Amino acid sequence: VEETLRQAQKIEAIGQLTGGVAHDFNNLLMVISGGLDMLDRQTDPGRRRRLMDGMIQAAQRGASLTKQLLAFSRRQTLRPEPVDVATQIGGMRELLDRSLRGDVHVEFDFPDQLWAVEVDPGELELVILNLAVNARDAMPNGGTITVRGENLPDLREEDIAGDYVRLSVIDTGVGMSPEILSRVFEPFFTTKDVGKGSGLGLAQVHGFATQSRGTVRIKSQIGQGTSIELYLPRSRNLASKQRHLIELNRTTRP
Ligand code: ADP
Repeated sequence: VEETLRQAQKIEAIGQLTGGVAHDFNNLLMVISGGLDMLDRQTDPGRRRRLMDGMIQAAQRGASLTKQLLAFSRRQTLRPEPVDVATQIGGMRELLDRSLRGDVHVEFDFPDQLWAVEVDPGELELVILNLAVNARDAMPNGGTITVRGENLPDLREEDIAGDYVRLSVIDTGVGMSPEILSRVFEPFFTTKDVGKGSGLGLAQVHGFATQSRGTVRIKSQIGQGTSIELYLPRSRNLASKQRHLIELNRTTRP
């Protein structure tokens, strides 16, 4: 059942995403076809160069978007591995910017040395995407989504003990009443219109957190906003080879 829910949720998230991405793709194609049209009539070398640079950039952005979409849809089973959270989520910036509305801004707030965690990297991205979509829906008049990462050493609480990374997705939206808050993790619980929400998002987030031996907490104030906090256990197994690859990725990312 968990697997089916996960798949349904993934398909829904991809659907939500592709809507936004299709729109952006169209814009990128307009840049390219419009540019080609102007290039045809333009003789000045400097202007031709600038037109071409703009088109190349648009094509590269399109390619990076498709790559990220494919990465989502390909993943089947959960494969936890040591993940450098800041790099993994930082890589979603363009995807997030392009799948949210223009009046919703995303900010990342990570310390220099955020610890690694042991999770399925694709699932982590899906969770962040779900939370960002919920945050967007909670801010009909626009606002800011902050994605924050924090190292919490040596926690000694009932359900979590040891070193944890806290990942919070914080919005400045409508907030939740205590009644809604008490039900949000139930599968199929939604306050959204038919066709808009499946009620699977936070159920999936909860499943992800517990399967990763962590937990999830929610702070919400009506009219103020909501903060969804994922506690994920620190991984000490990010091998030096992997670190090296991450560094390489960082320096080669356009
Ligand atoms: P869905 O988004 O499909 O409704 P979720 O499980 O993701 O399903 O969320 C369940 C409900 O929790 C939402 O319908 C909404 O009422 C509430 N909710 C979730 N995230 C937020 C948020 N950031 N701000 C306010 N309400 C939220």
